[in-house]
Amino acid sequence: MGEVIAVMNQKGGCGKTTTVVNTATSLALMGKSVLVVDMDPQANATTSFGIDKTKLENTIYDAITGKISVKKAAIPTFIKNLFIIPSNMSLSGAGVELSEKENYHIILKNTLRGIVDLFDYIFIDLPPSLGVITVNALVASDSVLIPIQAEYYALEGVADLISTIKLVEKRLRSPTPIKGILLTLYDKRTRLSRDVHKELKKYFESRNLLFKTIIPRNIRLAEAPSHGKPCLIYDPESTGTKAYLNLANEIIERDNQVL
Ligand code: ADP
Ligand code: MG
Repeated sequence: MGEVIAVMNQKGGCGKTTTVVNTATSLALMGKSVLVVDMDPQANATTSFGIDKTKLENTIYDAITGKISVKKAAIPTFIKNLFIIPSNMSLSGAGVELSEKENYHIILKNTLRGIVDLFDYIFIDLPPSLGVITVNALVASDSVLIPIQAEYYALEGVADLISTIKLVEKRLRSPTPIKGILLTLYDKRTRLSRDVHKELKKYFESRNLLFKTIIPRNIRLAEAPSHGKPCLIYDPESTGTKAYLNLANEIIERDNQVL
């Protein structure tokens, strides 16, 4: 039975997509079978694998609206063991469309039901919002991975994210397991980065919510998407690649925690 992990933070630019793309690739290169579900209409995860989002026949939108089967929507990437259900702008109206349906929050869960067993890991990449799509991802996933950027105010949005998670927990009467909180875009030369790390340790380390792996700010991670490749393929020796391989190992070993 595959483990579904939603990578979630309503703040843009904190490394959600970079984390999905490179963690999924790390696990695939380690021999796991992996599916990426791109739930962001901006489709950055889709293009990061060199897929042209303007030429897609089927997308996640077609799958969640029942136009096609979810198996038909999943296409192979150029990396062995790694598939993606791509996205494009057609998903941008989906939030409103879904919210008009009965039981709108379980649509993604029901959609993925036909495919999760074919993979070891399924990663859901999300847009920077706490809307209907995010609630659907919370319901559909076994755990949540929260990237937090080493930046001032980084922790502010986390309180809102945690209350959304708690709200959904209450509605569904079941706790949302947390895979872990991941410090991203870390620059060890800056005091700010070190301060954010200290804060995260203070709040989350004692409850075992914080990943030991830290993702450094690394130019290779930022360059790779424009080459249509995950950083692991674009520059296998980079510090970014090494960090995501470490994260993948931690994901395999780590038990989920409750907030
Ligand atoms: P999100 O999906 O949360 O909006 P992205 O993963 O797209 O965030 O990252 C935002 C921008 O920062 C992108 O241009 C990405 O290439 C870059 N980026 C992400 N993580 C790193 C990193 N560790 N080092 C350098 N650049 C990064
Ligand atoms: Mg993104």
